[in-house]
Amino acid sequence: MKVLVADDSLVMRRLLEASLSSWGYQPISAADGGQAWEILSSADPPSIAILDWMMPGLSGLAICRRLRERQAPPYVYVILLTARGLREDIVEGLNAGADDYVVKPFDKHELEVRLRAGRRIIELQAELMSAQARLREQAMRDPLTGIWNRACILDTLERELDRARRSGSPLGLLLLDLDHFKQLNDTRGHQFGDLALRAFVQRIQSAVRSYDSFGRYGGEEFLILAPGCGEPDIARQAERLRAAVAASPFDVEGCAVPLTVSIGAASVESGTCVSSIDLIRAADDALYEAKRTGRNRIVYKSASAVQRAG
Ligand code: GH3
Ligand code: MG
Ligand code: MG
Repeated sequence: MKVLVADDSLVMRRLLEASLSSWGYQPISAADGGQAWEILSSADPPSIAILDWMMPGLSGLAICRRLRERQAPPYVYVILLTARGLREDIVEGLNAGADDYVVKPFDKHELEVRLRAGRRIIELQAELMSAQARLREQAMRDPLTGIWNRACILDTLERELDRARRSGSPLGLLLLDLDHFKQLNDTRGHQFGDLALRAFVQRIQSAVRSYDSFGRYGGEEFLILAPGCGEPDIARQAERLRAAVAASPFDVEGCAVPLTVSIGAASVESGTCVSSIDLIRAADDALYEAKRTGRNRIVYKSASAVQRAG
């Protein structure tokens, strides 16, 4: 764990560096407040800072205030180390945002255990942050297939539409619906159907571009967002995906399962303004037509045309 030592006294810095290293920390030194702030503002700052109160430029107290104003993670645990040991000084230091306070001349063992307390807080905070990130991620994923869930892909659609509008670039949308999927469930059981859905998702995932978004829209319906794809690119991509599904059977528990998919494609063209509702409606109309005209097909509909008709 990196620990910042900010003190204008070279002797004090050397003493602290030696102690920190012997306790297993990685000391990083700053000779004044400005340098200390620069280190704390870097991309991967130390988690703990031992700050002298009085330093040229920025004081330890001023650094504390700045750190706490920043609010954004990562949290830096601050120990003020100073000759000012009056009760009012301690109150002022803690009030400025310091987590702990050690008066010079300091007792080495005391500093060591106070650092350990700081380390516990930092480690707990890191655990909390990663648990929070895991939960956030889980809330966006479809548990069966691991791709974005409905709420998340619809959120992404709004964001991508916004971006397309601002940048004046097109946005393509595909709605995929497996053909006669109910039959597979009826003959092989729901659990087998689940595994087939997973295999289908894997194949699509390896066929879409890295910057496309792929989500589960409903039971066996999926949504793909393709930024930068207007007509005819989106129709071409739809056809490519349809062909990839039909090309060979899926391996589900050692059984070869042939699947086909019908795809409704729609797009917002550069410089036009279409709502997410109209874009989905266009793809949905297209999908309905693909089903009606024989399945294992793709149909494209212009979102602007649907908008005018609606
Ligand atoms: P179509 O070609 O018209 O789309 O026929 P279909 O049978 O696929 O369409 P329908 O909408 O009638 O049925 C969809 C089926 O998908 C019904 C449902 O049991 C199945 N399904 C939906 N979600 C899941 C799921 O999570 N797991 C499994 N195993 N089946 C699902
Ligand atoms: Mg279906
Ligand atoms: Mg369906």
